[in-house]
Amino acid sequence: MPPVDEVTEERAPLEWETPLFHQAIAQFEQAVPYADVSDAIVERLSVPERSLIVAVPIKLDDGRRTVFPGYRVQHSSVLGPTKGGVRYDPHVSLGECAALSMWMTWKCALLRLPYGGAKGGIRCDPRALSLRELQAITRRFTAELLPVIGPQEDIPAPDMATDEQTMAWMMDTYSMQVGHAVPEIVTGKPISIGGSVFRAEATGAGVVMVVERACRRLDWDLAGQRCVVQGFGKVGAVAAQELHDRGAVVVAVSDVSGGLRDETGLDIPSLYAHALEHGHASLAEHEGEHVTNEELLELPCDILVLAALEEQVTGENAPRVKARMIAEGANGPTTLEADAVFAERGVPVLPDILTNAGGVTVSYFEWVQDLGRLFWDRDDIRSKLADKMGDAFDRVWELAEARGMTLRQAALVTGIREVAAALNDRGLYP
Ligand code: NAD
Repeated sequence: MPPVDEVTEERAPLEWETPLFHQAIAQFEQAVPYADVSDAIVERLSVPERSLIVAVPIKLDDGRRTVFPGYRVQHSSVLGPTKGGVRYDPHVSLGECAALSMWMTWKCALLRLPYGGAKGGIRCDPRALSLRELQAITRRFTAELLPVIGPQEDIPAPDMATDEQTMAWMMDTYSMQVGHAVPEIVTGKPISIGGSVFRAEATGAGVVMVVERACRRLDWDLAGQRCVVQGFGKVGAVAAQELHDRGAVVVAVSDVSGGLRDETGLDIPSLYAHALEHGHASLAEHEGEHVTNEELLELPCDILVLAALEEQVTGENAPRVKARMIAEGANGPTTLEADAVFAERGVPVLPDILTNAGGVTVSYFEWVQDLGRLFWDRDDIRSKLADKMGDAFDRVWELAEARGMTLRQAALVTGIREVAAALNDRGLYP
């Protein structure tokens, strides 16, 4: 794929070619030389399998009608149905979904889940929509996706600004169309309709399982480490709570409204309760010492957990980041330039496709439970998750050590090899 500035009229950009997609491709290309896969497979995996843009018309509360753009990209179905979140955000684009779907492919393969990657969303400002309007866009979006989703085709899940209520509306809309309840069409839904216990905490808990393993390998005691967490939503708030529970000192947290810091350690259980009551963008209203998100990233600390959104640490601010370890709870929060800065300084970056894989892993458990109509308890799920995350972490860490790569390269190589092997064995149709 040519760089954007080399695009000519004869070679117009493909619809998903955006900076974030270029980042996903650049990471892929950096990993490929270590993965030992053929050029034909590299070319095949550089392009998403299927990309869909839909119009999502709804009636607003004031009686006006409006149309939102909706997207779903399925990157690879070679290992099984595609799987990935649905986000509501003003920046959602086909390119963003394509990049995120590619990362989902590597993530599922790395965790040895029988899935490929997908991602979707609606370009909207979810905070400007009422509950009724959110329900309307969700149901209409689901109806527009009917030709391409299904329990054996593509299984949506929550992502930014979507939650178990969103999944319940999606499950209901799909079920009404086929004429019977199909809980396995989505994951991350309420327990009352086949959701899994521990799904809501899975991503944040998984982040801390990976951080804990990395500390052990580095001979650090997680208890007492000074941590900063950016993003205080479904991932960040749980990660902060899990760090706090293990005796780590969480010195700063933030959400989109701003951040709070306390050098002696924040009262995370009380902030968590505040976020549950007032939402995931309410820290600025909380009393305490306030910091901006820019300042927060540069605070002195041992472990920086990035759990908000992509492209937060860049070539520009990475030299000022003082953390001794970075954990990517969000997808794509560290740019390639920032990665290079941290590699040079020997700061380990626990990569997104490993570190935030707890969510999709427990989603897989949810799907399996729904298909089997047999449900496991919380302790069972937590321990199965710890086994899966630990196994993937060990494979990544050992490959990185053996081949002198970064943890991101090792995670990508591990995922890419699994997909490439399946593609090789299946061959080319027809
Ligand atoms: P969420 O909407 O529940 O929370 C996002 C949080 O980030 C909120 O607190 C929000 O206020 C904050 N935020 C938004 N913009 C910000 C900014 N500019 N600066 C600081 N904070 C900001 O979403 P989530 O589910 O927690 O997802 C967060 C990230 O984790 C996303 O990148 C998502 O793709 C990724 N992720 C989520 C899951 C999951 O299971 N929810 C799984 C894997 C990866």
